[in-house]
Amino acid sequence: MFKKLKKELQINIEEKEGQLYLGPKAKNIHLLMLRPIDIIEFSEFAGSDAEDVLVWVGKSLGQDLLQRFFYFKDWAPVDLSTKKEVIIGCLQAIELLGFGVLKAIFKKSHVLINVHDSFALDEKENIMAKNLCLLYQGILTSIFETLLIETDAEEIECCLLNSDKCVFKFELLNVEFEDKDIDGGQADDIVKPIRFYGEKF
Ligand SMILES: [Zn+2]
Repeated sequence: MFKKLKKELQINIEEKEGQLYLGPKAKNIHLLMLRPIDIIEFSEFAGSDAEDVLVWVGKSLGQDLLQRFFYFKDWAPVDLSTKKEVIIGCLQAIELLGFGVLKAIFKKSHVLINVHDSFALDEKENIMAKNLCLLYQGILTSIFETLLIETDAEEIECCLLNSDKCVFKFELLNVEFEDKDIDGGQADDIVKPIRFYGEKF
């Protein structure tokens, strides 16, 4: 599956039109290049209480992308082990799109997604850079939603606040991973909690 994804994710340049596409042009995933600061400026339109709006924008972006990749596949009959592989594949896809290095750690009742080299780092000094993390949260949430996994998402470490990475925690609300799918062989209860913004207790 990963090999297939990589092929589908090649960025193609239509030289005549001067446009970029992700995968074959027929898939119609037209790419637009933006600098992180452009996204921040855009998100300021959403206003000061924009958190939900930005997460929603991220979700919509992610959903649209995933549906095009999976051709509106019905995920209901798919088992959780396969969904785990799909999540890992999606993270690879997001990496290839330039979102940094993403790694998921699967536990019984939650999934942690570590993002190294987030593009929020490019605007570290900008107080609005946090908006980029909200977009990440939305995009990552959309992966679970597409796979019919309900989650409660929260960013528990942030590269803008004393950490070398952003860590998003997705509490699983309607499923649990079986032992064979759990990383590190540890159930939730013996995992040291990583708490808010690098503060450990
Ligand atoms: Zn962050």
